Amino acid sequence: MKKSRLIQAITIITGVISFTLISACSNDDDMSGKRANTVVTEDDKVALLFMLEEEKLARDTYTYLNDLWSLNQFANIKNSEQNHMNKIESLLIQNSIDYTILPMGEFINQDLQNFYNQFVIDGAVSQYNALQIGATIEDLDIVDLQEYINDTTNTVIQSVFESLQCGSRNHLRSFVSGIENGGNTYTPQFLTQEAYDSIIAGSSEQCN
Ligand code: MN
Ligand code: MN
Repeated sequence: MKKSRLIQAITIITGVISFTLISACSNDDDMSGKRANTVVTEDDKVALLFMLEEEKLARDTYTYLNDLWSLNQFANIKNSEQNHMNKIESLLIQNSIDYTILPMGEFINQDLQNFYNQFVIDGAVSQYNALQIGATIEDLDIVDLQEYINDTTNTVIQSVFESLQCGSRNHLRSFVSGIENGGNTYTPQFLTQEAYDSIIAGSSEQCN
């Protein structure tokens, strides 16, 4: 996903958020003695608001596909996506950032809305398509989270996003194994082949 477009879209959407909301600066030492940076910049707000909706895209798509196909993957992973949304929501609340969670299947970000609309159509065709959509969402999610992790210096956001990424790697492995059990393959669309291969070669991780 092209970030400039997203930032543009989200900047318009969040235009109502006043600059007075810029968080108070604070630097705390964490347990390891490493300097923790909890400053939330305007870019961090954009990242949190976007990722809240991208996690919602996962939750809503898997909820829809679970109702349609009753596959274990969707039943389990949709709950994990709700948990991911909750983690981001907590950060938004902690930092007094205004946000809106629209009803199931509705998104403020038009790119995410377009993805959802397409997934609903494609996912209804076959179980194979549905699993491909699952892998596609996780593939995208891991890459978007990595971009935001690289772009922020806020250690709290980094650690929450790393935890979400850990979940996404497990989810990707789960969807890909479903695809491969059906005798098919998944081709990464956002991850590099090297990064994808390394995730698939790994085993299930315990994410905090
Ligand atoms: Mn997730
Ligand atoms: Mn996921």
